[in-house]
Amino acid sequence: MNEPTPASSATPPVGITRYEPGRNSLRAAIEWADGFRDLDPSTSVLIKPNIIWGGGGSKKIPRYGMITTARIVEDLVVLLREHGCTDISIGEGTVADPQMGSTTSRGFTWSGIRRVAQQHRVRLVDFNAGPHEPVDLGGIQARISTHALRAGFLISVPVLKTHAMTKVSLGLKNLKGCLSMGSKKRFHQHGLDELIARNALVLQPKLTVIDGIYALAEGPTSLGAAYRFDLIAVSRDALTCDAAGSALLGIDPTSVEHLVAYADLVGRSPRLEAVPVRGVPLDEVSRSLSWEANTYEDVLRRAQISGVTVPWPGKRCCTLCATGLGCALVALAKDVAGRTFDGVEICAGADVRAQPRSKKVILVGDCAARSNADRRDAVAVRGCPVGVTGLLSTLAIHTLGLSEGLRVLAPRALKTLAHRLGLCDELFPAYRTYSPPEFDPLHFS
Ligand code: SF4
Repeated sequence: MNEPTPASSATPPVGITRYEPGRNSLRAAIEWADGFRDLDPSTSVLIKPNIIWGGGGSKKIPRYGMITTARIVEDLVVLLREHGCTDISIGEGTVADPQMGSTTSRGFTWSGIRRVAQQHRVRLVDFNAGPHEPVDLGGIQARISTHALRAGFLISVPVLKTHAMTKVSLGLKNLKGCLSMGSKKRFHQHGLDELIARNALVLQPKLTVIDGIYALAEGPTSLGAAYRFDLIAVSRDALTCDAAGSALLGIDPTSVEHLVAYADLVGRSPRLEAVPVRGVPLDEVSRSLSWEANTYEDVLRRAQISGVTVPWPGKRCCTLCATGLGCALVALAKDVAGRTFDGVEICAGADVRAQPRSKKVILVGDCAARSNADRRDAVAVRGCPVGVTGLLSTLAIHTLGLSEGLRVLAPRALKTLAHRLGLCDELFPAYRTYSPPEFDPLHFS
């Protein structure tokens, strides 16, 4: 790799480096991208990592490839300080669900980013707590964090991952975390890809830093498969960076709908040939990761549970219902591993219709209940979003029967309480295990 030289082409380049311990890999990627060129040290800097999950449940849920590492966030904070920046904050709005114990505050701790903030005297901002401002996104009203809207220099710091609904979840998609919870739901109901693009256009990130220490196949959650990638990609141009990130994952950026939508909005192309790359050539380090998977059915299959189908819910299933369903299935897969059921179907989201041949249908959330209203024998677990406790109870009782269902639910309730109180932790076979030194928990500490 040659020494970084200042960027000069019309389209800002993406700088790609191999990650090595220490700050020099990130420093070099920022220099390749001329990333701090427009950064006035006196401006307010907001770092938006991708934490998504608020750390409820087991602390042993693998974080590799699902959330941004504290390592990269800390290195970025130090480089910003070196540049002279004094007003730095880190903002996120994770899945917020009291029943799952998920809050942004817990997410900051679980990711290691709270430690970074304390050590470097950086402010943490919970976007879920507001305030938010109304913004028109092409006729759809959204509420976006005031803090994010008013940041002088917004830096999107996604992790390098695939996404079962949007193929990739990189810099543009990461900014969906700046919305209010209600707006996040609206996005799924009114055209997810177009709204991701419009939201990013409003927020105008000045820099994107893709944390590719780990990458995730079959994302976006820990039910996917993580790989050690050891890459960093940086650009002042959000589209350029995401196009390169897609290529690193082996996904053609022109096939990613929200990248195409963003490119249309700014009158450009998401084609890879349009991406000026500096540093490590893309074709030397790209790998092909699968993004399409029904991780729900994989969880059941790995637990040798048969006779249960869970059709993939699709884009109109919001993150909260999708996560609630995932949590319930992860618990069930542990508690009733090896069981055989007969014709059970679990449907979530507005687009899934239960199969006529299914003998027991369980509908997850108000959307699924509405779109399957003609299925009078179905059991609907209402809520918008669905509550995971009610969902788990319904799944257990309606698949196992009342007495066995209660025998499964009672110890599960006690274990959940014990997790919350920090009295014990638990391994779930649904999650893959990752071993040091390749997978290093210190990246999140
Ligand atoms: S029921 Fe679930 S999927 Fe439907 S709008 Fe509410 S949160 Fe979204």
